[in-house]
Amino acid sequence: MFRLSNIAKRGIPRVSLATGLRPTFYPLVSQISRNFSNTLFQRYPIEQKPSPPPPPPQKPLKTVTAKPKAPAPTVLDYTANLFLLTEIFRGMWLVLEQFFRPPYTIFYPYEKGPLSPRFRGEHALRRYPTGEERCIACKLCEVVCPALAITIEAEARDDGSRRTTRYDIDMTKCIYCGLCQEACPVDAIVEGPNFEFSTETREELLYNKEKLLANGDKWEPEIAKNLEANQYYV
Ligand code: SF4
Ligand code: SF4
Repeated sequence: MFRLSNIAKRGIPRVSLATGLRPTFYPLVSQISRNFSNTLFQRYPIEQKPSPPPPPPQKPLKTVTAKPKAPAPTVLDYTANLFLLTEIFRGMWLVLEQFFRPPYTIFYPYEKGPLSPRFRGEHALRRYPTGEERCIACKLCEVVCPALAITIEAEARDDGSRRTTRYDIDMTKCIYCGLCQEACPVDAIVEGPNFEFSTETREELLYNKEKLLANGDKWEPEIAKNLEANQYYV
Protein backbone atom coordinates (compact mmCIF):
# COMPACT_ATOMS: atom_id res chain seq x y z
CA MET A 1 0.00 0.00 0.00
CA PHE A 2 1.32 3.43 -1.01
CA ARG A 3 1.99 5.67 1.95
CA LEU A 4 4.04 8.86 2.27
CA SER A 5 5.47 7.57 5.55
CA ASN A 6 6.92 4.65 3.70
CA ILE A 7 8.67 7.01 1.25
CA ALA A 8 10.03 9.06 4.09
CA LYS A 9 11.38 5.96 5.72
CA ARG A 10 13.04 4.53 2.61
CA GLY A 11 14.18 7.84 1.17
CA ILE A 12 13.64 9.09 -2.37
CA PRO A 13 15.55 7.04 -4.90
CA ARG A 14 17.52 10.00 -6.34
CA VAL A 15 19.43 8.04 -8.88
CA SER A 16 16.38 6.74 -10.51
CA LEU A 17 14.78 10.22 -10.55
CA ALA A 18 17.85 11.82 -12.24
CA THR A 19 17.89 9.02 -14.75
CA GLY A 20 14.30 9.60 -15.46
CA LEU A 21 14.62 13.38 -15.88
CA ARG A 22 17.70 13.17 -18.20
CA PRO A 23 15.73 12.86 -21.50
CA THR A 24 13.71 15.93 -20.57
CA PHE A 25 16.51 18.28 -19.59
CA TYR A 26 19.30 17.36 -21.99
CA PRO A 27 17.79 18.79 -25.18
CA LEU A 28 16.93 21.97 -23.33
CA VAL A 29 20.43 22.41 -21.95
CA SER A 30 22.07 21.67 -25.27
CA GLN A 31 19.83 24.20 -27.05
CA ILE A 32 20.72 26.92 -24.52
CA SER A 33 24.41 26.13 -24.87
CA ARG A 34 24.20 26.28 -28.68
CA ASN A 35 22.45 29.68 -28.61
CA PHE A 36 25.07 31.04 -26.24
CA SER A 37 27.89 29.84 -28.44
CA ASN A 38 26.35 31.41 -31.55
CA THR A 39 25.95 34.72 -29.75
CA LEU A 40 29.54 34.65 -28.55
CA PHE A 41 30.96 33.93 -31.99
CA GLN A 42 28.85 36.67 -33.55
CA ARG A 43 30.05 39.21 -31.02
CA TYR A 44 33.72 38.25 -31.21
CA PRO A 45 34.40 36.99 -34.69
CA ILE A 46 37.66 35.16 -35.16
CA GLU A 47 40.20 37.39 -36.81
CA GLN A 48 41.48 35.97 -40.03
CA LYS A 49 45.22 36.48 -40.41
CA PRO A 50 46.21 37.77 -43.79
CA SER A 51 47.70 35.01 -45.84
CA PRO A 52 51.45 35.44 -46.56
CA PRO A 53 52.36 36.81 -49.95
CA PRO A 54 53.16 34.20 -52.52
CA PRO A 55 56.88 33.52 -53.01
CA PRO A 56 58.53 35.32 -55.89
CA PRO A 57 58.79 33.25 -59.00
CA GLN A 58 62.09 31.41 -59.17
CA LYS A 59 64.45 32.03 -61.98
CA PRO A 60 64.63 29.17 -64.37
CA LEU A 61 67.80 27.09 -63.97
CA LYS A 62 70.42 27.57 -66.61
CA THR A 63 70.73 24.62 -68.80
CA VAL A 64 74.29 23.73 -69.69
CA THR A 65 74.51 22.46 -73.15
CA ALA A 66 77.36 20.16 -73.98
CA LYS A 67 79.82 21.44 -76.48
CA PRO A 68 79.29 19.90 -79.81
CA LYS A 69 81.78 17.19 -80.44
CA ALA A 70 84.14 17.38 -83.33
CA PRO A 71 82.70 15.57 -86.23
CA ALA A 72 83.91 12.03 -86.57
CA PRO A 73 86.47 11.51 -89.32
CA THR A 74 84.92 10.46 -92.50
CA VAL A 75 86.08 7.85 -94.92
CA LEU A 76 87.69 10.64 -96.93
CA ASP A 77 89.76 11.72 -93.87
CA TYR A 78 90.93 8.14 -93.30
CA THR A 79 91.91 7.83 -96.92
CA ALA A 80 93.80 11.15 -96.90
CA ASN A 81 95.70 10.23 -93.72
CA LEU A 82 96.58 6.87 -95.19
CA PHE A 83 97.94 8.12 -98.50
CA LEU A 84 99.61 11.33 -97.24
CA LEU A 85 101.38 9.52 -94.31
CA THR A 86 100.35 12.20 -91.82
CA GLU A 87 100.79 9.92 -88.79
CA ILE A 88 104.43 9.28 -89.71
CA PHE A 89 105.14 13.00 -90.09
CA ARG A 90 103.45 13.77 -86.77
CA GLY A 91 105.56 11.10 -85.05
CA MET A 92 108.73 12.48 -86.62
CA TRP A 93 107.82 15.98 -85.45
CA LEU A 94 107.45 14.66 -81.89
CA VAL A 95 110.91 13.07 -82.07
CA LEU A 96 112.36 16.33 -83.41
CA GLU A 97 110.88 18.25 -80.48
CA GLN A 98 112.42 15.88 -77.91
CA PHE A 99 115.76 15.85 -79.72
CA PHE A 100 116.71 19.39 -78.65
CA ARG A 101 115.65 19.32 -75.00
CA PRO A 102 118.15 18.42 -72.19
CA PRO A 103 118.05 14.73 -71.24
CA TYR A 104 116.37 13.55 -68.07
CA THR A 105 118.83 10.74 -67.46
CA ILE A 106 122.48 10.83 -66.39
CA PHE A 107 125.33 8.67 -67.62
CA TYR A 108 125.82 6.67 -64.40
CA PRO A 109 128.43 5.68 -63.11
CA TYR A 110 130.42 8.32 -64.97
CA GLU A 111 127.92 11.01 -63.98
CA LYS A 112 126.33 11.23 -60.55
CA GLY A 113 123.39 13.21 -59.30
CA PRO A 114 123.51 15.70 -56.41
CA LEU A 115 123.53 14.34 -52.84
CA SER A 116 122.19 16.03 -49.73
CA PRO A 117 124.74 16.83 -46.98
CA ARG A 118 122.46 14.78 -44.73
CA PHE A 119 122.70 11.70 -46.91
CA ARG A 120 123.30 8.61 -44.76
CA GLY A 121 125.60 6.23 -46.60
CA GLU A 122 128.46 3.97 -45.67
CA HIS A 123 129.82 4.27 -42.12
CA ALA A 124 133.24 5.63 -41.29
CA LEU A 125 135.32 6.23 -38.19
CA ARG A 126 137.07 9.57 -38.18
CA ARG A 127 140.41 10.75 -36.84
CA TYR A 128 141.64 14.09 -35.58
CA PRO A 129 144.03 16.00 -37.90
CA THR A 130 146.86 14.67 -35.76
CA GLY A 131 145.92 11.14 -36.76
CA GLU A 132 144.53 10.21 -33.37
CA GLU A 133 141.25 8.30 -33.30
CA ARG A 134 138.27 10.38 -32.27
CA CYS A 135 136.38 7.51 -30.70
CA ILE A 136 136.61 7.45 -26.89
CA ALA A 137 134.79 4.14 -26.50
CA CYS A 138 131.85 5.62 -24.65
CA LYS A 139 129.60 3.01 -26.31
CA LEU A 140 126.72 5.43 -26.78
CA CYS A 141 126.43 4.41 -30.41
CA GLU A 142 126.30 0.74 -29.41
CA VAL A 143 123.52 1.40 -26.92
CA VAL A 144 121.44 3.57 -29.20
CA CYS A 145 121.62 1.34 -32.26
CA PRO A 146 118.10 -0.06 -32.75
CA ALA A 147 119.36 -2.89 -34.96
CA LEU A 148 122.06 -4.02 -32.50
CA ALA A 149 124.50 -3.81 -35.37
CA ILE A 150 127.42 -2.29 -33.45
CA THR A 151 129.78 -4.25 -31.19
CA ILE A 152 132.47 -2.43 -29.21
CA GLU A 153 135.17 -3.63 -26.86
CA ALA A 154 137.45 -1.19 -25.09
CA GLU A 155 140.32 -0.95 -22.65
CA ALA A 156 142.50 1.76 -21.19
CA ARG A 157 145.80 2.59 -22.81
CA ASP A 158 149.10 3.16 -21.04
CA ASP A 159 148.55 6.91 -21.09
CA GLY A 160 145.22 6.47 -19.30
CA SER A 161 143.03 7.25 -22.32
CA ARG A 162 140.22 4.89 -23.19
CA ARG A 163 140.11 3.53 -26.71
CA THR A 164 138.35 0.75 -28.56
CA THR A 165 140.06 -2.55 -29.23
CA ARG A 166 137.18 -3.75 -31.33
CA TYR A 167 134.61 -1.77 -33.31
CA ASP A 168 132.41 -3.89 -35.56
CA ILE A 169 129.35 -2.94 -37.55
CA ASP A 170 127.21 -5.57 -39.20
CA MET A 171 126.12 -3.64 -42.26
CA THR A 172 123.55 -6.30 -43.13
CA LYS A 173 121.68 -5.42 -39.93
CA CYS A 174 122.07 -1.65 -40.23
CA ILE A 175 118.95 0.27 -41.21
CA TYR A 176 120.83 3.55 -41.82
CA CYS A 177 118.82 5.44 -39.24
CA GLY A 178 121.76 7.70 -38.34
CA LEU A 179 121.22 7.38 -34.57
CA CYS A 180 124.82 6.29 -33.97
CA GLN A 181 126.03 9.46 -35.65
CA GLU A 182 123.61 11.59 -33.63
CA ALA A 183 124.65 9.97 -30.34
CA CYS A 184 128.40 10.27 -30.81
CA PRO A 185 129.75 13.16 -28.70
CA VAL A 186 132.98 13.55 -30.71
CA ASP A 187 131.71 13.01 -34.29
CA ALA A 188 133.74 9.83 -34.54
CA ILE A 189 131.22 7.50 -36.19
CA VAL A 190 129.52 9.09 -39.18
CA GLU A 191 127.57 7.99 -42.20
CA GLY A 192 129.46 9.26 -45.17
CA PRO A 193 128.35 10.11 -48.70
CA ASN A 194 129.42 6.78 -50.20
CA PHE A 195 126.50 4.70 -51.45
CA GLU A 196 128.45 2.42 -53.75
CA PHE A 197 129.56 -0.35 -51.42
CA SER A 198 127.61 -3.34 -52.65
CA THR A 199 129.42 -6.65 -52.26
CA GLU A 200 129.23 -10.16 -53.61
CA THR A 201 129.28 -11.89 -50.22
CA ARG A 202 127.67 -11.21 -46.88
CA GLU A 203 130.99 -11.45 -45.04
CA GLU A 204 132.28 -8.38 -46.87
CA LEU A 205 129.58 -6.36 -45.14
CA LEU A 206 130.84 -7.23 -41.65
CA TYR A 207 132.94 -4.11 -41.07
CA ASN A 208 135.69 -4.06 -38.45
CA LYS A 209 137.61 -1.15 -36.96
CA GLU A 210 140.32 -1.13 -39.64
CA LYS A 211 137.77 -0.97 -42.44
CA LEU A 212 135.85 1.83 -40.72
CA LEU A 213 139.01 3.86 -40.09
CA ALA A 214 140.05 3.36 -43.71
CA ASN A 215 136.64 4.66 -44.81
CA GLY A 216 137.14 7.69 -42.59
CA ASP A 217 140.57 8.39 -44.08
CA LYS A 218 139.19 8.07 -47.61
CA TRP A 219 136.08 10.22 -47.22
CA GLU A 220 137.27 12.77 -44.65
CA PRO A 221 137.15 15.85 -46.96
CA GLU A 222 133.55 15.12 -48.04
CA ILE A 223 132.46 14.17 -44.52
CA ALA A 224 133.93 17.34 -43.00
CA LYS A 225 132.25 19.48 -45.67
CA ASN A 226 128.87 17.82 -45.08
CA LEU A 227 129.13 18.19 -41.29
CA GLU A 228 129.96 21.86 -41.68
CA ALA A 229 127.00 22.41 -44.02
CA ASN A 230 124.69 20.62 -41.60
CA GLN A 231 125.91 22.20 -38.35
CA TYR A 232 123.18 24.88 -38.36
CA TYR A 233 120.42 22.28 -38.32
CA VAL A 234 121.71 19.99 -35.54
S1 SF4 B 1 122.73 3.80 -38.70
FE1 SF4 B 1 121.28 3.12 -37.14
S2 SF4 B 1 121.13 0.92 -37.46
FE2 SF4 B 1 122.97 1.56 -38.57
S3 SF4 B 1 124.65 1.28 -37.09
FE3 SF4 B 1 123.94 3.40 -36.86
S4 SF4 B 1 122.40 3.33 -35.20
FE4 SF4 B 1 122.72 1.21 -35.93
S1 SF4 C 1 131.88 6.13 -32.01
FE1 SF4 C 1 131.26 7.87 -30.73
S2 SF4 C 1 129.48 7.16 -29.61
FE2 SF4 C 1 130.47 5.34 -30.46
S3 SF4 C 1 131.83 4.65 -28.80
FE3 SF4 C 1 133.04 5.97 -30.12
S4 SF4 C 1 132.86 8.00 -29.17
FE4 SF4 C 1 131.22 6.76 -28.30
